[in-house]
Amino acid sequence: MADLEKFRRETRKWLDDHAPPVARQPVTNTDELCWGGRNAKLEPGVRQWLDVMGERGWTAPTWPSEYGGGGLDKQEARVLGQEMASLGLRPPLIGFGLNMIGPLLLQEGTEELRKEHLPPIIRGEIRWCQGYSEPGSGSDLASLQTRAVVDGDDFVLNGQKVWTSYADQCDWMFILVRTDPQAPKHEGITFLLMDMESPGVSVKPIRLISGKSPFCETFLTDVRVPRRNVVGRVNGGWTMAKALLGHERTMIAGMGTERTQGDSLVDLARRYVEGSEKRISDAVLRDRVAQVELDRKCFELTLARSRDGQKAGHKPGPETSFFKLYGTELNQRRRELMMQIAGPQALGWEGAGFEDDEIRIARDWLRSRGNSIEGGTSEVQLNIIAKRVLGLPD
Ligand SMILES: Cc1cc2nc3c(=O)[nH]c(=O)nc-3n(C[C@H](O)[C@H](O)[C@H](O)COP(=O)(O)OP(=O)(O)OC[C@H]3O[C@@H](n4cnc5c(N)ncnc54)[C@H](O)[C@@H]3O)c2cc1C
Repeated sequence: MADLEKFRRETRKWLDDHAPPVARQPVTNTDELCWGGRNAKLEPGVRQWLDVMGERGWTAPTWPSEYGGGGLDKQEARVLGQEMASLGLRPPLIGFGLNMIGPLLLQEGTEELRKEHLPPIIRGEIRWCQGYSEPGSGSDLASLQTRAVVDGDDFVLNGQKVWTSYADQCDWMFILVRTDPQAPKHEGITFLLMDMESPGVSVKPIRLISGKSPFCETFLTDVRVPRRNVVGRVNGGWTMAKALLGHERTMIAGMGTERTQGDSLVDLARRYVEGSEKRISDAVLRDRVAQVELDRKCFELTLARSRDGQKAGHKPGPETSFFKLYGTELNQRRRELMMQIAGPQALGWEGAGFEDDEIRIARDWLRSRGNSIEGGTSEVQLNIIAKRVLGLPD
């Protein structure tokens, strides 16, 4: 205990000494955070924060130090998180490397793959994307058709992926491919790691009504991927895919508990609802705000308990479907309520008459609609909970 207190004091001092001003600025949107990668154009302060934290392994505090991680135990990692929160510090790095493929490699990867891929993830040098969905394979992911055929030491890939978030900005993709078309659909899939700079990979951003292109189509024509880049075993990719989805669903569920600047329901009500400087005058609204905040707090604690379990070596199981379902619906309830509180001021898309944070309310609300689709839809989560958690018959 005394050691932990010493660790807390030293950690606080170190963070305070090393965090540049930009690391102390509140975050209004995850796009403002550092996703790393070869092509990232980082402001000097953001780069500095990434470098000092990456050097110490504190971008991935609980990963083993032999791969460049922080090597902290779960109590120390919690202290680090608490001290960062109390100093109001941003995470130095986020992304699919830290939250999805890194944890899978720690769980299932060969030593060779871990040594090759974990250090660049920790240092924010490589940004990863996810090549799961295809034009005909979303909820029924196991029906995927992208083919991989062995040729010498390589697989040769042909096919198409879709909805690949940020593929145009990423360096590597973890990808599901069909290696045995004769086998039952779940048994002919392999999980591969593919360099996006490989000849034959082309990416086409999908432009949305907002003008942004958060995801892409990814086309693969005779792309060569070394056979040593298999995670798990050939034709055993479905088990890897599900294990990774467990990490992804826990990450997406966390959106229900995230706090960014300007998203406090109470502050918003004070700003927009008449007579609510001290107490929200509208009793119905007061009740709804209290309910969402209480649900958020309870859910945050449940997630923290599950993460502690994972740090202690428990693999995420089908219960992550519950987290995903609840966390995304909580986030949607919260965004809906923010729209109602801000009223007409939340109807702006751009232009005069609206503050930037008001425009963000509408955009974040729209973005939250996708939360119950990405990582597997809510209906699919309900199916998993029914079958694999509750054991109900088909
Ligand atoms: C913001 C966002 C980011 C994404 N990023 C990525 C990414 O980086 N990489 C990637 O590979 N994919 C990504 N996706 C794709 C996502 O995984 C798929 O959209 C999702 O799995 C659903 O597949 P689909 O769109 O083909 O819908 P469909 O599978 O066609 O489903 C259509 C509707 O039918 C319902 N449905 C389907 N099957 C059943 C069933 N058995 N029981 C009950 N209802 C059912 C669904 O719930 C849904 O309402 C992203 C999606 C979004 C929205």
